[in-house]
Amino acid sequence: MRTPVIAGNWKLYKTAGQALELVGGLLPLVAQTKGVEIVVAPVFTVLGKVAEALAGSNIHLSAQDCFWEEEGAFTGEISSTMLIDAGCSHVIIGHSERRQFFGETDATVNKKIKAAIKAGLTVLFCIGETLQEREGDQTFDVLRRQVTQGLRDLSQEQLKKVIIAYEPVWAIGTGKTATDSQAQEAHQFIRGVIAGLYDKDAAEEMRILYGGSVKPENIGGLMAQADIDGALVGGASLKADSFAAIAKLG
Ligand code: 13P
Repeated sequence: MRTPVIAGNWKLYKTAGQALELVGGLLPLVAQTKGVEIVVAPVFTVLGKVAEALAGSNIHLSAQDCFWEEEGAFTGEISSTMLIDAGCSHVIIGHSERRQFFGETDATVNKKIKAAIKAGLTVLFCIGETLQEREGDQTFDVLRRQVTQGLRDLSQEQLKKVIIAYEPVWAIGTGKTATDSQAQEAHQFIRGVIAGLYDKDAAEEMRILYGGSVKPENIGGLMAQADIDGALVGGASLKADSFAAIAKLG
C-alpha cells in the first residue's frame, strides 16, 4: 500500500509573515488528516521559521532545490545537510522551472538526488515533457531518459527515499490539467521504467505524484487512477483552504 503524498511547492512566493500566516491557516485544517504525507516547500529564507511553526504537526517541510556538495567555495548554494539543519525532511529536485531557467540537466539532477539521499532527505524528483515534446510524440522517450539518468547509480535501498513527480510542463501554471487518463498513462509508463531499472517490488512501492494545475476540483479524479499516488501542487498550495481540500484528496 503506497501512502499518498500531497506536496505544496510555493515557488518564489511568500515572505516570512505571509508564510507563517499560510501555515497558521493550514495547520488546523489538516490536523485531523491521516494517511496522507503532507509536505510544504517554502523559499530557503523562511525554512527555519516555518519549521518552528510546523514542529510536532503532521506537515513535513521541504526545500525547492539543493546543491550536491556538502560545503565549500560555492557562493549562493545550499547543501542537503544545511536543509536538514533548517528542519527539512524533503527536497524537490529537478523541477522543470529549474531545468528551463537555471540550466539544470539530467546529470546535475542525478548528482543532487544522490547527495540529498546520502544526507537523509526524501527527494521529490520532478520529470515531465514539454508541449513540443508531447506534440512530437517524444513523451515516453523523454520520461524514460529523465528517470534513467536522474536515478543513475542509485541502489534499490536508496530508491526508497525517492518520490517521483510527473509534471507535464504544458500543464504547469496554465490551468490545463492533463486528463485523468493522460496522467494515468504517463504514470503507468514511469512505473514500468522503474520495474525495468530495478524490479517489480521497487515499481510497486514507488510513489508517483502528478503535478500541473491540480485543484480541489480535479484531485479526486486524479487520485482515482491506479498509478497516481498524490500531487505536487503549485498555485493552489498558496491558499490554506484550497491546499487543505487537496490534502484531503477531494
Ligand atoms: P501549478 O499547480 O501552479 O500548475 O504548478 C505545478 C508545479 O509546478 C508544482 O511543482
